[in-house]
Amino acid sequence: MTNTINRRRFCSTVAGLAGTAVVGVLNSPAHAVAKEFPPGRFVDVHVHIGGIRKGATRPLQVEDLLKWMDLNDVAQACVLPLVSPESFPNPVSTEYVLEHTQPHRDRLIPFCSIDPRNTWYSSGQALIGQLERYKEKGARGFGEHKPGVEITDKRNLAIFAGCQSTELPVLIHLDSRRNVDVPGLPGLQSVLKMFPQAVFIGHATGFWNSISGGPNVSLSGYQKGKVKPGGALDRLMDEFPNLYGDLSAFSAYNAISRDPDFGREFLIRRADRMLFGTDFLTPDQKIPQLDFYRRLDLPADVRQKIFRDNIRRILKLTAE
Ligand SMILES: [Zn+2]
Repeated sequence: MTNTINRRRFCSTVAGLAGTAVVGVLNSPAHAVAKEFPPGRFVDVHVHIGGIRKGATRPLQVEDLLKWMDLNDVAQACVLPLVSPESFPNPVSTEYVLEHTQPHRDRLIPFCSIDPRNTWYSSGQALIGQLERYKEKGARGFGEHKPGVEITDKRNLAIFAGCQSTELPVLIHLDSRRNVDVPGLPGLQSVLKMFPQAVFIGHATGFWNSISGGPNVSLSGYQKGKVKPGGALDRLMDEFPNLYGDLSAFSAYNAISRDPDFGREFLIRRADRMLFGTDFLTPDQKIPQLDFYRRLDLPADVRQKIFRDNIRRILKLTAE
């Protein structure tokens, strides 16, 4: 008992001294204060504001999002508009996201989005001009790109060309209705080949069910059971260094957890390509990722890359 108390006292004294030392250095005019990112274990690549889900009385607001981030150790989050009619019951414009994130840019990183069928930007020049304007207002990426067209639709290719030339990473929702492709993802493959300088971040069931090979891969629904060899994701990630995976939503959680040994090895093997995310968009939403990744036994360097460092590198975020 005495030993325990002594050790506690000793520890608190040391902590106190260390604290004093740090404050001293920070207050010293001779030393510039090191810039740091906001505290928190995670950077979330995928959240939304302004959406109203069935049964909700009001949209999720920035204050709700920040409170949720504080509670869950989320340092920063990418806030994604939803502009396509197939993407959400009520559209959320880029302008709404830019305006509402404006006072919190240390923590909230806005993306921009344009539907490929928007004829106002049908010339490459007009599209690039608009993307540049969005960048000037703070947009760091493009998406959530979720239009009801084929992934290789030529209007989609124009969007990807614009993102490549303006260096905006594209977060792409892929399933059997949005950015439509077929099992094996030949459409995504040709897009990756066409735009080697653009960064693509894959999301949703069409992308994540393709973690598995075999004849029964579907691009919709949540597929269960052991992952079979020959999945499109490993093949495409081997071939294309510009392909990343957004770990948000039930689709990615399901893909990683359906075959836990494969999932863990996949995360370690693709530690430079995986991006933590949730798809948080309603106040009472259950987010399986938070508990799952807190508990998952991963090497410390893998955690750091997946939870924070990869997305900060891709978006070229700097501490303020
Ligand atoms: Zn989303």
